[in-house]
Formats: sequence, C-alpha cells, structure tokens
Amino acid sequence: MPIYEYACRKCGQEFETLVRSTTVPDCPHCHSTELEKKLSVFAKPGSAAQAAPAAAGPCGSCGHPDGPGACRLN
Ligand SMILES: [Zn+2]
Repeated sequence: MPIYEYACRKCGQEFETLVRSTTVPDCPHCHSTELEKKLSVFAKPGSAAQAAPAAAGPCGSCGHPDGPGACRLN
C-alpha cells in the first residue's frame, strides 16, 4: 500500500499518509482535501512497470550508471 507525502494548499501543512483507492486524504491540521501530492515513498502504481527495467543496473541490484559493481566502490 503506497504512502504519499502531501502538502496542504490551504494551511501548508506537510504530512504523509497511506492512500487507499476508496478514501480521500485530508489535511490532519485543517481537514482540507485541497492537497498537493509531493512524492510517493514507493513507486507510483502507474509507473512502476515502466521504471523497474530502466532502474535495474548491470549489476542487477543498484542501477548505478557507472556499470557493474560500481555501487560496491562507494
Ligand atoms: Zn491544511
């Protein structure tokens, strides 16, 4: 279940919330539903299928642009 980070357009409060398809998130501070979605902690459902192959690097685990094993040098 994805966790989304929102910023309230009304009062500026930022918060994270679990989002279910059947519920509309509201601001815990002023309960406004005029929210700006900032980012998702997990991949967005719509883009996960497209992002996964591109993010998988040659080493198969980190997607480091410098190539196989580059992630281990850091
Ligand atoms: Zn608010």
